[in-house]
Amino acid sequence: MPSLKPRCLWLTVAVFVTLQSPAARAWSNHTLCTWQATTPLGHWGERTVTAETLADFLTKEADRLPKMLADEEQWAQATVPFYPPRPAALAFQAPHDGGGDASALKRAFLQAIRANADMPLALYLQRPPGTAVAPERVVPWPSLSILKSMSDLDANSLERIDDGATVRVADVVATASNEPDYGLDIGLWQDNGTQFGALYGYGPQPFGNPRLDYGSQAPFHMGFYHESGIVYRAAPYLQHTYPEARIHLYMTLSRFAFAQGHAYWGWRFAGWAVHYVQDLAQPYHARVLPGVNVTRMLLTSVLDMAGVHGPKTAALNRVTNRHTVLENYQYRHMAAAYRQGALTDPLLVALRDTTDDPSLPRLQPAALRTIVTAQSADAADALDGQLERSFSAHYVTDPDTDLAAVPDLDMDSIARQAPVVEQERLSALVAARMRQVGRDTRAVLRAVDPQETAEAAAGAPRP
Ligand SMILES: [Zn+2]
Repeated sequence: MPSLKPRCLWLTVAVFVTLQSPAARAWSNHTLCTWQATTPLGHWGERTVTAETLADFLTKEADRLPKMLADEEQWAQATVPFYPPRPAALAFQAPHDGGGDASALKRAFLQAIRANADMPLALYLQRPPGTAVAPERVVPWPSLSILKSMSDLDANSLERIDDGATVRVADVVATASNEPDYGLDIGLWQDNGTQFGALYGYGPQPFGNPRLDYGSQAPFHMGFYHESGIVYRAAPYLQHTYPEARIHLYMTLSRFAFAQGHAYWGWRFAGWAVHYVQDLAQPYHARVLPGVNVTRMLLTSVLDMAGVHGPKTAALNRVTNRHTVLENYQYRHMAAAYRQGALTDPLLVALRDTTDDPSLPRLQPAALRTIVTAQSADAADALDGQLERSFSAHYVTDPDTDLAAVPDLDMDSIARQAPVVEQERLSALVAARMRQVGRDTRAVLRAVDPQETAEAAAGAPRP
């Protein structure tokens, strides 16, 4: 951690602990959200595209990509607060052998966008829970991720697809919307011990534990834009979060791919952008410590510095466990609904609910602060309080509990032990989050879809 004043310590440790839970990612298995969110787009998802390898896309566009990426870098430097400029040496250049070495080309591209240069990025689709993928078609996990394994994901649901295969747009987007959690943003900071992290110019990891995988991706998947001024003064590094840069980059790459005739990559990049937008609907990704007001934060900090550590420890464990509880509840609940074919489940219905779509029909960069995270930050305290009423103190208050260490945690089943009225209140609050996830997913897709943008330009009524 760089140059922290003593008063920053409490927040430093708070965020450090919050992010070290290996289970805490925002939402688990984004594909379950994305399939529902795209259903109201009608025939949109049934359109098909031809799968194309990344190497083919990069080889064909090697001459046009440098300018597109240079323009994107200029936009980020001019627009994203605290954005660390990309070192000039990383600008994309096709390898001199004419692009014959697919892995060198992929690496040059990943370094140019400052993502994890070891990501495999194979061709594959994720199938819904309960779908049997033929064993010989199951894609081995190391072909998709740099992580050892992925909790809350059925490895047998991942199907290899062939170069040139015809695939549904809805499946490409849903599959890609989980991919940024497979390691794209892991190891990018200078103190992460990776060869590329040392070159990327992002500096030391602003918060989280640099030795832990998910800690290192957190500043790209969280956006703390709505804390009070005193919190930023005490912990300025909390402003060093970059989902805005990621979302804009992947939407720009998506539009670029469509414009050059690579529809498969147009939708896969769009799915990557969708991931970050969905993450920002998670209150624990939009607020540092939901349920803890500034006065209490500062008081606890003072006590901690005076040697009374109990209140701090309790607050840290609580926020870590509540983040895990919310994520686990949402995932377990929705996975069960999928398995049972329960399309009337309130969370699935909320994802398909378009009532609020007119408030954000097409995602614009500024809306990530003014609408998306403003709403999830606003929802944080109520949801945090509801977790306290829906679950026993063991799960959400007891400082000795470490839910990240509990195998097969099923908070959906546990939630059913609460009084019915609390079950309904929890479901309604999480459904509100899913309603936002649905709206924001569609807002990204409408903003990049070449058919939508052509209709919008021709003056057709917007949905
Ligand atoms: Zn994420």
